[in-house]
Amino acid sequence: MFQIEREELKRLDERVFEYNGRFASFYIGATAFYGDSLDPSPECIRLLSKDNDELRKALTGIRRRGLSEFDRLVYDHLRSNLSAQRAYLNFYFLDKKPSVDEFIAKLLGNFSMDSLAESYDDNIEARLLVLEGRRGMLPLRSSDERVQHAVRETVPELLKQMTAHYAKLGLFPGELVEELFRAMHIRYDPEEGGSSWWKESYTLELAIKEFNVYQIRGRSRVNPSTGLINSTHEILGHTVRDLISEEMPRTLTGDNKNFFNLCSMQTIEGYAFLLERFGEDYVRNQESKLSLEVDARGLRKRSPLNQDESARGVLRISSQRLVEIRYLVKLYLSLKGEEQSNINEARVWRRFTGVDFARYRALPNLGSVTLEKQRDLPHRLSYWAGIQKVRDTIDRVKASHEDKSFFETPLFNAILSTGTWSWEVFGDWLRYAVAHKTEFEEHYALAVAGSKKRLVQHAGKNR
Ligand SMILES: [Zn+2]
Repeated sequence: MFQIEREELKRLDERVFEYNGRFASFYIGATAFYGDSLDPSPECIRLLSKDNDELRKALTGIRRRGLSEFDRLVYDHLRSNLSAQRAYLNFYFLDKKPSVDEFIAKLLGNFSMDSLAESYDDNIEARLLVLEGRRGMLPLRSSDERVQHAVRETVPELLKQMTAHYAKLGLFPGELVEELFRAMHIRYDPEEGGSSWWKESYTLELAIKEFNVYQIRGRSRVNPSTGLINSTHEILGHTVRDLISEEMPRTLTGDNKNFFNLCSMQTIEGYAFLLERFGEDYVRNQESKLSLEVDARGLRKRSPLNQDESARGVLRISSQRLVEIRYLVKLYLSLKGEEQSNINEARVWRRFTGVDFARYRALPNLGSVTLEKQRDLPHRLSYWAGIQKVRDTIDRVKASHEDKSFFETPLFNAILSTGTWSWEVFGDWLRYAVAHKTEFEEHYALAVAGSKKRLVQHAGKNR
């Protein structure tokens, strides 16, 4: 039921999956995603375009009307996948250039830069940011040995407790908590990098600095709130989806090859973004346990995290997000050829936030817009466009359904987390899976069992 029936479509799904892998390598180089910039050769662009055209032609060769309901969803996903990549090649690398706004509309649907404001309650957050700037107590440097020790001593257990809590809320498959934490490799990044999840090696990469370690009267104290909130995004948003989507068609799995298909980012990141609020709730509700003291022998004592400290964790995330929005506006304007005008940026920014940022010393330096960063606009914009899109899609599907209570169940959450669907197909997928919820429940049980097996195997290899 949740597998491709038509043989031709199955083969095409495999081919698009391979193509996605090549496209991802190209995207990573062209945007200097991992730091190294590899400017693509004209030959590379030509081949990617040619293969994209061939795949789209092969797709139109399959009669959509003759397909099963699920196959039609996959068909639409493949179409969206290929046409988003084609639009990207056209816009950045070929002569057939649409305007910036046409390009964004093609890639993200009805998204305007103005809706960034709706995605984010800027006024409040901006004020909080200023408040944060007034706070003292500087954390120790990430490279400090005491910091490394404190983080390694506390973080794995904290993450496990938090994940078990999410399992109770029906947001994480409870059967997988133990296995995940046995199999998962937690890597601590002392540099500037943020949190990320790597499916192939079950690695959760965390930024040490987000676990704020302070030194008070010779003792190391950890305020993990920022790190925990960011880990919520990874664990609930990405880990769950990757674990339970393995049995889906190839282009719908969480494989890294699909990561830059450009059509699924809104769904995946938008949903992960929405789930961060559970991390904020968790941190606020755990104030009594979350301030930790560590000495050379390990974790010594838990003392209440005062309200200031938990607020600071949430604030730090808000300020990171705020910088990101501001930078996106700058990228957007630079693509429109208006980057020279600082006044223009300030005006747009003020319109979004209602706050005159020039007045605050906390205003970060955004750095210059490079060609590589311009090319990464679709990915970075997806997060913000995605929040609204995912929320609207869920609301629409819910509105057209009799049984509203189903939308609050763990099973509906599993539906939301299954497959890496294009934003254009996501709503149809939800409708389809909700309409076949008994069959989905069976499928989901198998997916969880399969995942458990793979986690156990991986943990065995680690030993
Ligand atoms: Zn993410």
